[in-house]
Amino acid sequence: MQRPGTDDNNVQMSDILCDFCGKEWTLERPMVEGHRGACICGECLTLAYTAVVIDGSATAPAGFMCELCRENRPDAGWKSPATGIAACFRCIKQSAGVLQKDAESGWKKPAAKK
Ligand SMILES: [Zn+2]
Ligand SMILES: [Zn+2]
Repeated sequence: MQRPGTDDNNVQMSDILCDFCGKEWTLERPMVEGHRGACICGECLTLAYTAVVIDGSATAPAGFMCELCRENRPDAGWKSPATGIAACFRCIKQSAGVLQKDAESGWKKPAAKK
């Protein structure tokens, strides 16, 4: 999301906030934009990907609304412990793919535990 009051003609990195933890976009904290301006940062994506994709432990209740695609989803999702906002399995996988492809982000999908 954009920080409330952001000048649309002069948007800075620090005006972009993760919808899931509220932190700013920085060089150390890469960000992926979903639909309609919703954003998820690398830290949240790591938590979400680990919970939903690797551990299979969804934390969002059935029928939750995914903040990234704005759809009510019947599938597994991740609910941010910081804000209570949720992301769906599909968006988490998609965002992880986007962020990993972006070499500058330095972000990698969390590896499965052995
Ligand atoms: Zn975040
Ligand atoms: Zn979604």
